[in-house]
Amino acid sequence: MSATSRVWTGINFEQDGKHSDYMRVPFSSDKSAYGWIPIPMICIRNGDGPTALLTAGNHGDEYEGQIALLNLAREIRPEDVRGRVIILPALNYPAVVAGRRLSPLDDGNLNRLFPGDANGGPTAMIAHYVESVLFPLSDLVIDLHSGGKSLDHYPVALARPGLDKTGAAKIHSLLEAFGAPYSVTTKGEGGGAGTTLYAAAEQRGIPALTAELGSGGTLSARGLSIAEAGIRRVLKVYGIVPNIAAPTSSGTRLMRSLSRDGSIYAPGAGLFEPLVECGESVSKGQKAGLLHSFDEPLAEPISLVFATEGTVLCRRFLTLTERGDCLFLLMVDDE
Ligand SMILES: [Zn+2]
Repeated sequence: MSATSRVWTGINFEQDGKHSDYMRVPFSSDKSAYGWIPIPMICIRNGDGPTALLTAGNHGDEYEGQIALLNLAREIRPEDVRGRVIILPALNYPAVVAGRRLSPLDDGNLNRLFPGDANGGPTAMIAHYVESVLFPLSDLVIDLHSGGKSLDHYPVALARPGLDKTGAAKIHSLLEAFGAPYSVTTKGEGGGAGTTLYAAAEQRGIPALTAELGSGGTLSARGLSIAEAGIRRVLKVYGIVPNIAAPTSSGTRLMRSLSRDGSIYAPGAGLFEPLVECGESVSKGQKAGLLHSFDEPLAEPISLVFATEGTVLCRRFLTLTERGDCLFLLMVDDE
């Protein structure tokens, strides 16, 4: 982590006003030997005060956050701000313009590459710039996600448990301010664990949350409205944009992801037929879905059963399935 980032920008983070430029990620290709990848970045600053770092498009095929942050970047005027708002609505821009989860340049999964590498591929360089340049400027971090093409996701805010009591309290305050109907804590087992953007923020003691707002690589109106309202509430509560219009939250229900313990993985290849919806409460032993196989067309489909009770947090969106695909993930109330 001692290496200096090769990424640069035309933005001076200490200058007041609204400035739009790029995180300029050097990338040498057949078509452009000395070129850079333009990752859109907006900085809105007005004097001293806390800094909010807001990102979306970490995975390219997750759209609610991308639109919510474009709307916000247009809306906020410098005179509305007390401190600084840094907005990156398409953090892995090559993945965003390709409509993919991963970058087409290096197959990089940005949310599995933290803390990044100053001299790695373009995706690792983006992670390293966030880690080494943007995190030190930031007092809170929100990284907006959705289910993407492969998952049907119940709209929730997600956060890590925090490294200690102080960290946990800061994260809890951020979840309360964001005010999504459901706030889920997770250690990311079965997912990104310590390699995600919000896990990297946790390591630095910066309160961070992420969100899963929609499904299947399309736009959820409900997810978009949760994102728009949540970000505005956070900016208001933390005094960064004190007078921004923000709808009142009707409170958040604190949940815990069961991670691998509450997951059903495909035991083989086939066609996945889910029998329950996201957000549905399920009981231990309840039938979750069927897996139909072409190997033995006359055999009964494999019956998938929940091993524990809970509420369906997400399920596989795609029907065509291979062994090891995550088909269901459950959450439970956090006592
Ligand atoms: Zn994502």
